[in-house]
Amino acid sequence: MTDTALDYQGLGERLAAVQSGIADACGAAGRDPADVSLIVVTKFHPAALVSALAELGVQDVGENRHQEAQAKAAELAALDLRWHFIGQLQTKKARQAAQYAAAIHSIDRERLVDALATAEVAQPIDAFVQVNLTDDPGRGGADPADIERIAERVLATDTLRLRGLMAVAPLPEEEAAEAAFARLRGYADELLRLAPEATALSAGMTHDYREAIAAGATHLRIGSAITGKRPDPR
Ligand SMILES: *Cc1c(COP(=O)(O)O)cnc(C)c1O
Repeated sequence: MTDTALDYQGLGERLAAVQSGIADACGAAGRDPADVSLIVVTKFHPAALVSALAELGVQDVGENRHQEAQAKAAELAALDLRWHFIGQLQTKKARQAAQYAAAIHSIDRERLVDALATAEVAQPIDAFVQVNLTDDPGRGGADPADIERIAERVLATDTLRLRGLMAVAPLPEEEAAEAAFARLRGYADELLRLAPEATALSAGMTHDYREAIAAGATHLRIGSAITGKRPDPR
């Protein structure tokens, strides 16, 4: 395993720096860091990097492309990892994703829920309804007006366990992360009236995790601050 250590020099330091940044942001927000979990986003990076992260104690990793995630999960099946699917998921790939994903953060339409409802799973998959915080339907995520309907559909399945909402902040020039996450917090509070157990909030990436923690995020999806620059997608 010295190869991975050589290839990914600085990985441990960057991971520690982000962990201490999370602890500081929790301190500033008056929150317990134990209530915030870190998912390291490893998309486009080789399996060897995921394995180096596992050696550093990381258990939760995030991927946004089904084929890539499926291949890495198979290659690293011997490791104790939880795979979080965070990208747009085609309905016809949903049942396959359910084979390796412990969590799906990108539930954005009822048809996807229906496909996942028929998946064969050993235990229910953690499900986050993704909300689009922009006016651009191409960004991914459900229109806020559809959250409740999708959530009800999730609640009606045996294969999914509704955890809460997920969102990606708009670009900084479109809207400040604080304002976008405040709206997200509002949607999350509305969802709690329908589903009191759906207390999780998946928000916060490399550039906005502090604002996300201030807004109550429980699941951070952080990539480049830890992994370094991403290779180009293949
Ligand atoms: C890539 C990605 C992330 C991580 O982004 P970084 O800016 O590298 O931290 C988080 N969430 C989603 C949905 C992503 O696609």
